[in-house]
Amino acid sequence: MPGSTDALIVGGGPAGLAAAIALRQRNIGCVVVEALPPAIDKACGEGLMPNALSALESLGVQITDEDGYPFRGIRFANAAHQVDAQFPEGYGVGVRRIRLHERLALRAHRCGVNILWNSRVTLLDRGMSSIDGTQIAFRWLIGADGQGSFVRRWAGLDQTRKKRLRYGFRRHYQIRPWSEFVEVHWGPGGQIYVTPVSPESVCIVFVTADLRDRSDILASFPALRQRLSSAPLLSQQRGAVSATRELSRVADGTVALVGDASGSTDAITGEGLAMSFRQASALAEAIEAGSLAGYSRAHERIGRLPHAMGSLMLTMDRWPSVEVRAMRALSSNPELFRELLSVHLGMKGLFEFAMLRGPKLGWSLMTGSHHG
Ligand SMILES: Cc1cc2nc3c(=O)[nH]c(=O)nc-3n(C[C@H](O)[C@H](O)[C@H](O)COP(=O)(O)OP(=O)(O)OC[C@H]3O[C@@H](n4cnc5c(N)ncnc54)[C@H](O)[C@@H]3O)c2cc1C
Repeated sequence: MPGSTDALIVGGGPAGLAAAIALRQRNIGCVVVEALPPAIDKACGEGLMPNALSALESLGVQITDEDGYPFRGIRFANAAHQVDAQFPEGYGVGVRRIRLHERLALRAHRCGVNILWNSRVTLLDRGMSSIDGTQIAFRWLIGADGQGSFVRRWAGLDQTRKKRLRYGFRRHYQIRPWSEFVEVHWGPGGQIYVTPVSPESVCIVFVTADLRDRSDILASFPALRQRLSSAPLLSQQRGAVSATRELSRVADGTVALVGDASGSTDAITGEGLAMSFRQASALAEAIEAGSLAGYSRAHERIGRLPHAMGSLMLTMDRWPSVEVRAMRALSSNPELFRELLSVHLGMKGLFEFAMLRGPKLGWSLMTGSHHG
């Protein structure tokens, strides 16, 4: 264990490892301290959108079809309607969370990152830590320790602008993927999304604001339940908090937060990993420049669109009548859904979309009309 490092990163999940890789790409030394042993699993939809894959590529992490299963776009469905759209460019890949973590850890290891798995860190003072009893001095401190970040509290960065909690429950089923899309099923009380993760399995996540008994997550989704009725369950159900959280500040002096520690969008957006990877690169760039001011601005920019799309989807979640009208409007006008997907991926401007299509979409949502 070194006696000092340029950057101490607390948390070796996707964001912490991505930040470590991005620092090493700039020849900046770092130590990652992670409480768990590898490889680390977590309840996750396991879909890497095209923008997540390109962010990973810029970190030198290659995800191939053999790591998972490709998908070509997104499908929304409720009991009455469905609509889908292919990605304007590229494709996504469904990858088991454990495999993604292995890929990131391998790349970090090859970049020369010092990772202390299964370790406990105490922050003694700004610039000094104790890891499993050994003191390590650092210049920069990076909190990549997830939703319940202790670095965030320690650094006094806990003040939130917005917070809403839902809960996600994940399972894997042994069944040949039946669709080339990630499917988002809208039902009473929440959404299930289905991501193909191998030629013989799919990942199912139910996201809800209602924390009643969740032993039967398929209860409100009869069509899906029928399809999966004879498919063997491949994993135990695993839960996690899906938080919408916007912080007032993500950096202070020489301390910065990255990934879920720095705020997050609801799981339904499928953007958490892409955001974390992009933040990681922006953070390393700011550290290389010697000031975190640029990181705060970049973090705001990276989150703007996912937060806007998250708000839209949470409005559909909260108001079933809006969901019904939106599904009716989108299914009768798939071009609108294609454009929304392009906006979601940052390939089309939100402002441009709102100006050109907003009135028509708004009218459809208010009146439930098909044609606007
Ligand atoms: C139900 C659900 C479904 C999701 N689906 C998707 C999806 O389909 N696509 C997508 O892109 N995103 C999805 N997300 C979001 C995505 O999972 C997160 O954005 C991502 O995990 C963020 O990574 P992270 O490294 O910031 O946090 P985490 O993955 O939570 O990692 C934090 C790490 O810090 C460690 N740690 C915590 N405290 C300490 C400590 N004191 N000392 C040392 N280590 C510590 C933890 O052990 C953990 O390994 C989903 C989230 C949920 C909840």
